[in-house]
Amino acid sequence: MMMTPLQKYLSATPAESVSPAFVSWLSALQLVAGEAPGVARAVVRELAAQRSHLKLIASENYCSHSVQAAMGNLLTDKYAEGYPAHRYYGGCENVDAIELRAAKEARELFGAEHAYVQPHSGADANLIAFWAILSARVEEPALSRLGTADLNRLSDAQWETLRQELGSQRLLGMDYYSGGHLTHGYRQNVSARMFRAATYAVDKESGLLDYDAIEKQALDFKPLILLAGYSAYPRAINFKRFRAIADKCGAVFMVDMSHFAGLVAGKVFVGEENPVAWADVVTTTTHKTLRGPRGALILCRSEFADAVNKGCPLVAGGPLPHVMAAKAVALKEARRPAYRAYARSVQRNARALAEACMREGLAVQTGGTDNHLLVLNVAQTHGLTGRQGESAMTQCGITLNRNSVPFDPNGAWWTSGLRIGTPALTTLGMGTAEMEEIAPLIRLVLDGTKPAPSEKGALSKSKIALDGAAQKVAQRRVSALLGRFTLYPELDLAFLKSSFLR
Ligand SMILES: *Cc1c(COP(=O)(O)O)cnc(C)c1O
Repeated sequence: MMMTPLQKYLSATPAESVSPAFVSWLSALQLVAGEAPGVARAVVRELAAQRSHLKLIASENYCSHSVQAAMGNLLTDKYAEGYPAHRYYGGCENVDAIELRAAKEARELFGAEHAYVQPHSGADANLIAFWAILSARVEEPALSRLGTADLNRLSDAQWETLRQELGSQRLLGMDYYSGGHLTHGYRQNVSARMFRAATYAVDKESGLLDYDAIEKQALDFKPLILLAGYSAYPRAINFKRFRAIADKCGAVFMVDMSHFAGLVAGKVFVGEENPVAWADVVTTTTHKTLRGPRGALILCRSEFADAVNKGCPLVAGGPLPHVMAAKAVALKEARRPAYRAYARSVQRNARALAEACMREGLAVQTGGTDNHLLVLNVAQTHGLTGRQGESAMTQCGITLNRNSVPFDPNGAWWTSGLRIGTPALTTLGMGTAEMEEIAPLIRLVLDGTKPAPSEKGALSKSKIALDGAAQKVAQRRVSALLGRFTLYPELDLAFLKSSFLR
């Protein structure tokens, strides 16, 4: 009789050396391959791709096998609209236990008054937070003026007046080109369509937030929501100062800490740099520096708890119980001393990498970093667009993404910058010595890259001519580096390939 991959592995491995993580992978892939071999092949190929590319993407990480295992089970079958002990479906006791556990872990980890762990993604969390704030600050006062708590009792005319009022509020967030996120009032996103949105930019000279200028703008604009947080700003933020600005202009202070939540959880950002201590509402993804499953959560003061709990039906549909389970596991992991050491190391590595890049003559925006990321201006040093830099790196086995620099003349598509982060490399176990190796590697690739002419003869903003010798050297150095830091080392890739890629 033919042996399955799992049986083969178990029969060839002494009991004390059997890896539970590898057994779990083999069992899962066998089941998947039985129905959809192409899907199983893609999973194995993704492991191979991740193993062979240096991941400098600032928003990605590698989560634990425990986090992954918590997601891969029957919890996905359950509908649980509502919130714990207040569901629109029967039989939610176990989902309640999971959601309550994850929320408790989140409250304790971040020292928050309330946590809501249902949002499926950072963008969803922001929408829920926006509408929860609108509920608490616009809808509730309107209803109490009208003498009812029930929307359905409003006349069509009253409802239309309220709808107009909800739709005419103001949001002040960080400019996309300065490092803000699409969901913070960018015109292509619903946030700029549901709010009258304005944005604050960094200072043109220093590239830093100018709190006095933000205060002036906020007092002038009088937003309902003052929003701080970023995807590509390399510095710490003084949230105490932001709080004072919000108080002065009567705004609700919201922070989107999606990128740096891990540094908050790991107590790298404390005091004035800890948003949870100062903001009314804090949103975050759970899959970036926090190193959990793909998803998000919202922390808030008690004042906003009821409104945030109504995320479903307000914005979202049913929660993902399996992902909430994985959030509970990841949040628990983040409370351990080992995670704090990880968070400190992420920051130390980013600093080391920024300094090494500057020694290589690369243009590091703001002259360094306080967090987990840095932005290189490759237009300035190499006459390349971010897009060209990104494809050169990819062809050399380095994954990262292009990013706008403040006031970017190349716009949001081509861009002038590369965003580089240390969370994933730090999870692999790399330290400052490896950062010293990576900076010259980045320089080598950029030095070997020239903009190529497009069909029409003019210099293209996307095409490149990559020097073959430089590429070979870079690829060799990437493999040597990754050979010393294997992703998920307990997974036997050769065995997976021979079992599923034939
Ligand atoms: C990544 C990010 C988001 C969006 O998260 P998704 O899970 O991709 O929806 C929102 N805000 C900020 C600041 C982010 O960095």
